[in-house]
Amino acid sequence: MKRIIPLVSFLLMIIFQGFGQSSDSLMIKKISDEIFMNGTAYSNLKYLCKKVGPRLSGSAGAALAVEQTARMLREAGADTVMLQPCMVPHWVRGDKEIGKATLVDGKKIDLNIVALGNAVGTPANGITAEIVEVKNFQELEKLGTENVKGKIVFYNYRMDPRYINTFQAYGEAGVYRGAGPSRAAALGAIGVIVRTLSPVLDDHPHTGATRYEEGKPKIPAVAISTNGAVELSILISDKKVKSVYIKTNCQMLEDAPSFNVVGEIRGSEFPDEVITVGGHLDSWDLAEGAHDDGTGCVQSIEIIRALKALGIKPKRTIRAVMFINEENGLRGGTKYAEIAKQESKKFIMGLESDAGGFTPRGFGYSANEKQSATIEKWQSLFVPYGASEFKRGGGGADIGPLRNLGTALIGLNPDSQRYMDLHHAKTDVFEAVSERELNLGATVMAAMVYLVAQYGL
Ligand SMILES: [Zn+2]
Repeated sequence: MKRIIPLVSFLLMIIFQGFGQSSDSLMIKKISDEIFMNGTAYSNLKYLCKKVGPRLSGSAGAALAVEQTARMLREAGADTVMLQPCMVPHWVRGDKEIGKATLVDGKKIDLNIVALGNAVGTPANGITAEIVEVKNFQELEKLGTENVKGKIVFYNYRMDPRYINTFQAYGEAGVYRGAGPSRAAALGAIGVIVRTLSPVLDDHPHTGATRYEEGKPKIPAVAISTNGAVELSILISDKKVKSVYIKTNCQMLEDAPSFNVVGEIRGSEFPDEVITVGGHLDSWDLAEGAHDDGTGCVQSIEIIRALKALGIKPKRTIRAVMFINEENGLRGGTKYAEIAKQESKKFIMGLESDAGGFTPRGFGYSANEKQSATIEKWQSLFVPYGASEFKRGGGGADIGPLRNLGTALIGLNPDSQRYMDLHHAKTDVFEAVSERELNLGATVMAAMVYLVAQYGL
């Protein structure tokens, strides 16, 4: 008997666990059906891209996006919709940039450039200087001040195509956009041209934030299209370029008022345990910001809508958050965590979708051992949706500041093959998003949110 009791309770545990899993899988299927049958993520995305359009922090587009996503959250059935005030940097591009290379034979070649976000503009008559090409920082340092002073530095670093996950290549190449201008300025350069961070050869320069280092001169910085970079590099190695002219009209204005938009379903049993799910509302000025990150926003809104439509009462509180200013300041994510710290609630999990609206493959998570083990227990539930690649490590920029509160951070990991082709470029438009892929992403996000809401973390 002594031996039988543990055996029986062990068997019962297996049965109950199995039952739990199958009732969860049925519920997830129900949520999936609801999203694929009646989902509004795609029409909301269309509105955000076509009616609102670009929404860089501080712009009229961003203000309209705040208003309209608050409406979408109310229409989705959120119990409460809140705006969290937040001051944001207000950078403006101004008139279209001009770039020209003057060749030794007197001919002029147009350079296909855009200013990098947060960059200073050139003087009114632009800058003209000799150009020096480097493939990386080592080459720059080797040239030293004597070969860089007074010149324009051209970082021609190609994104490494050998990485299967394009985010890895992006992370590696991104240092030239971020730190390149200050590193060149430290050696006396007067301007910087960075090869666009894209794995494909085309004519669309991608913008993105640069970061000036404190104490270094702030010099103008632009991105050149990948085709433009290849062409310029050949001209330079053939010693055909006499000088380069760059004129940009961008400037950083005073900080502007803006908001995070938050839609909440109050938890039925543990309302003080909060699940945050979101994307970022701002986008670069050149694009409709469809994949970056309209999709993350509308997927998060869709979770609220689907749960409400099905009459599901989550045990824990769910907040869908449209974070402002991910692109050039992260003020929204920082503000959200700041407010969370003051609330007498437990922020148990943050889930972010900011890697595009492509077919979801799984999740990456930064969590403690117990939280990670719980998440991993659910992995098999995601197999039918093709999103069962669970990896330790990951999260999202906007939810990142919550980590200090012990919050488990989870990032949705979609297929990464096409994202970098259009990231921060004018090609990031509504038409580049597939309705089914978008809905599948929303489905697996909703499933993760549902599981955490029911079982905690
Ligand atoms: Zn983004």
